[in-house]
Amino acid sequence: MDELFTEGAPIEDTKAPDGPLEERWDKRRFGGKLVNPANRRKLSVIVVGTGLAGGSAAATLGELGYHVKSFCYQDSPRRAHSIAAQGGINAAKNYRNDGDSIQRLFYDTIKGGDYRSRESNVYRLAQVSVEIIDQCVAQGVPFARDYGGLLDTRSFGGVQVSRTFYARGQTGQQLLLGAYQALERQVAAGTVEMFARHEMLEVIVVDGVARGIVARDMVTGEIETHTADAVVLASGGYGNVFFLSTNAKGCNVTATWRAHRKGALFANPCFTQIHPTCIPPSGDHQSKLTLMSESLRNDGRVWVPAKKGDTRRPGDIPEDERDYYLERIYPSFGNLVPRDIASRAAKNVCDEGRGVGPGGLGVYLDFADAIARLGRDAVAAKYGNLFEMYERITGEDPFDVPMRIYPAVHYTMGGLWVDYDLQSTIPGLFVIGEANFSDHGANRLGASALMQGLADGYFVLPNTISDYLAKGPFEKIGEDHEAVVEAREAVESRIEKLLSIDGDRTPDSFHRELGAVMWEYCGMERNEAGLLKAIDRIRELREEFWTRVKVPGENEELNQNLEKAGRIADFFELAELMCIDALHREESCGGHFCTASQTPDGEALRDDERFAYVAAWEYTGHAPVLHKEDLEYEYVKMTQRSYK
Ligand SMILES: Cc1cc2nc3c(=O)[nH]c(=O)nc-3n(C[C@H](O)[C@H](O)[C@H](O)COP(=O)(O)OP(=O)(O)OC[C@H]3O[C@@H](n4cnc5c(N)ncnc54)[C@H](O)[C@@H]3O)c2cc1C
Repeated sequence: MDELFTEGAPIEDTKAPDGPLEERWDKRRFGGKLVNPANRRKLSVIVVGTGLAGGSAAATLGELGYHVKSFCYQDSPRRAHSIAAQGGINAAKNYRNDGDSIQRLFYDTIKGGDYRSRESNVYRLAQVSVEIIDQCVAQGVPFARDYGGLLDTRSFGGVQVSRTFYARGQTGQQLLLGAYQALERQVAAGTVEMFARHEMLEVIVVDGVARGIVARDMVTGEIETHTADAVVLASGGYGNVFFLSTNAKGCNVTATWRAHRKGALFANPCFTQIHPTCIPPSGDHQSKLTLMSESLRNDGRVWVPAKKGDTRRPGDIPEDERDYYLERIYPSFGNLVPRDIASRAAKNVCDEGRGVGPGGLGVYLDFADAIARLGRDAVAAKYGNLFEMYERITGEDPFDVPMRIYPAVHYTMGGLWVDYDLQSTIPGLFVIGEANFSDHGANRLGASALMQGLADGYFVLPNTISDYLAKGPFEKIGEDHEAVVEAREAVESRIEKLLSIDGDRTPDSFHRELGAVMWEYCGMERNEAGLLKAIDRIRELREEFWTRVKVPGENEELNQNLEKAGRIADFFELAELMCIDALHREESCGGHFCTASQTPDGEALRDDERFAYVAAWEYTGHAPVLHKEDLEYEYVKMTQRSYK
């Protein structure tokens, strides 16, 4: 294993303030420099991504008066993947009087992440969560309301309070429409320039500092360079490295991977979230898996037949021959245990031969009790669109028969390393939302991604970036600057190379095979032999890709095969780093389950002595260098996580 990577100097978050936890965010804001409103007009920021993180950031920076260039690869900013988010967004409002507080959201998040995230960041996230809801309500986001007209909430996994605000099963869509309106307002005001259908393919780094991007106009193929005083990446997660995932098909790692190759450290790449409630795969033809929101576990009960190989229809299996295994094993949290725990439990019962549906890869999510207790209309009001989606895909009506669900790749906790200011190791390059590694440790709690994306975009970045921009005015960088020309040429020659191979395999066929390797060896369970095998196979496949891929068409047109091929080439490199990261972390924590490290009852067993750190990887072109950021817990005691 040694030759797979080397270890470098430790890394420290020098921006993290000290002092009492609850005062740190105030302290940092007060300590940071400001840019006066008249000077903001002279400063420019590129924001790549228009999801909840990038959309909210671009709108807010525009509102502050900076000149913003906003990029996305969709035809409209409001088609960013955030639109798919279903279940809700957390906030420590305690509207329910059920004992919630900023402290409790902080604690739940640290514990839920299996003690692999930073206390300062997570506390700030919990503080800011409260402001997000006010901001979105003011924008007109139609959150669900209770009978009395107050905002309604529901519960998500890993917590015992009800702090998730929602808009039916379309929370992401409604929040994104809010951010999009704010963004379009700035477009109309002239502070934000929008570049839809543009794919960023390189970062421009001048004297070690991020000063722009190279982007391809996806309709004409034109390669453009854009410079600015700072660059923000809000390009989302990389779950699609597994090919099959709940992410939108376009989600990819290119923006962050290109930055990684230019010097930005990549943190905890192996921390992947497998979501327990997805529609099981139904064959080899699929290119995507569908999430059934975690909110369904508020009312749905998860079970399998108590006996192995019981093929009776669910309705024919009497109560005392069913195993409501989550309620049995985890009586305190029941069906609302965190995702990593629920996913592994589902895998275990299926491995025991008690799974249901084709291939025995499924467990039931049953609403019969909820329908009897609340009535069909009440259940339809809460989950109607999710039930409809399930029925359209499977042909089965969840009002009549239980849903069948199985875990699937859903979210990536890993991402570019950032400090407390959300700045990467390339000065001037900030990373927000799912694209950074920050707040979720080894496992993200449900409804916390939207919270983090909007916290970063509306509240954190706009405050911290000013400390950096206050260093301006910055040197003007022309199109003919050596670093700009070099970055542009690198993009052009890569495109040429991809088009010229003219092999006999489609980009998708490589992606599918890579995904299968990752799912098998770097998915729900990892072990040394499997990961070593995966690394060998990934290297072979990558070599084959660069000699056999066929990319029809040309650059000067809409060419989706070309887009895919570029993204898959980056996925290959990322996949290898994910396996190396998983291999080196000889412990289990959150979503990273190493079979050699488990408790006697099969739960993840951390090794805090050796692994209580963030693994931040440096790109070298050969064996990557590992830099460790030690995690210190002053306010929370690291304990074995228990939801029993
Ligand atoms: C089905 C589903 C349901 C979910 N439900 C919930 C939920 O209920 N609650 C919750 O908290 N979380 C949920 N999540 C997670 C959450 O939706 C995401 O983590 C979050 O929306 C990510 O937001 P983002 O702004 O970081 O990135 P995204 O929304 O993924 O946006 C990425 C943006 O970057 C752009 N981009 C990327 N690469 C490039 C490039 N190279 N060049 C130009 N532009 C680029 C894209 O065009 C896009 O605009 C869900 C996820 C899925 C898959």
